[in-house]
Amino acid sequence: MKIVTSKKELSEELSQIRKVGKSIGFVPTMGALHDGHLSLIEYSNKDNDISIVSIFVNPTQFNDKNDYIKYPRIVEEDVDKLKKVKCDILFTPSEKEMYPDEDKREFDFGNLDKVMEGAHRPGHFRGVALIVSKLFETVKPDKAYFGEKDFQQLAIIKKLTSQLKFNIEIVSCPIVREKDGLAMSSRNMLLSKEQRANVSIISKTLFAAKEKQKSMTVSETKDWVIRTINENSFLKVEYFEIVDMTSLEPITGWNQKAEKVGCVAVHVGTIRLIDNIRFYS
Ligand code: AMP
Repeated sequence: MKIVTSKKELSEELSQIRKVGKSIGFVPTMGALHDGHLSLIEYSNKDNDISIVSIFVNPTQFNDKNDYIKYPRIVEEDVDKLKKVKCDILFTPSEKEMYPDEDKREFDFGNLDKVMEGAHRPGHFRGVALIVSKLFETVKPDKAYFGEKDFQQLAIIKKLTSQLKFNIEIVSCPIVREKDGLAMSSRNMLLSKEQRANVSIISKTLFAAKEKQKSMTVSETKDWVIRTINENSFLKVEYFEIVDMTSLEPITGWNQKAEKVGCVAVHVGTIRLIDNIRFYS
């Protein structure tokens, strides 16, 4: 595995690869890799000749300074994990490399960044759009792999890709979960033992809500999920919304003709976790 830190060096490597007609798959991450990340690399390996992973804790997408400071950074362990799956190039740029000057671009994603994460984390998706567009411009992959764990991010990246006319196929990959159902996340390693024992309530409640879908209205389901998670004293729901998977507009009745996803954000002490579940359409 080659480890590259400059955009120039990466572009040179990639132009050699493209010259010989090899296809390139790209997996952008913020590191502290877990099996969710590794699954994206496995999808990329299946589809492409070459897989590139980036690790960059992107400052512009953190609306909470403390979250940025305490975000886990364990690059050496990450490198060991990447050597075990097949990763051809690891790109680990510095902040100066990605943001040599202030990037003042603004984006218009319509409703997509106004709701849920967008409403509760001001500026977050602008930061995501800034870094993903910069990475796409440098890597120019054939395909890029994103997890459904960050469902709203995926919707925005698809929109960004079409707005900026990147010739890149965005591949959505299913959520990888721990044995007890908790969605894998780099932030899980920040949980205390006690918190960790309680957070599986989040996914268990989502799974149960899907099973109860036929016996409750949308609004009853929303209330039930929020109440059930909040009954656990370790957990505090920030939002739970059931939305149209494409437009992210709220669903008001199960008979609506749309694919439906329920998205939740939960505070566990100072840590914030997200998860989501597809409802029957
Ligand atoms: P992050 O490092 O959190 O920015 O995540 C990098 C990529 O991994 C994003 O596309 C995430 O959606 C994806 N990802 C994170 N957790 C999971 C998971 N549990 N299952 C599948 N994909 C995930």
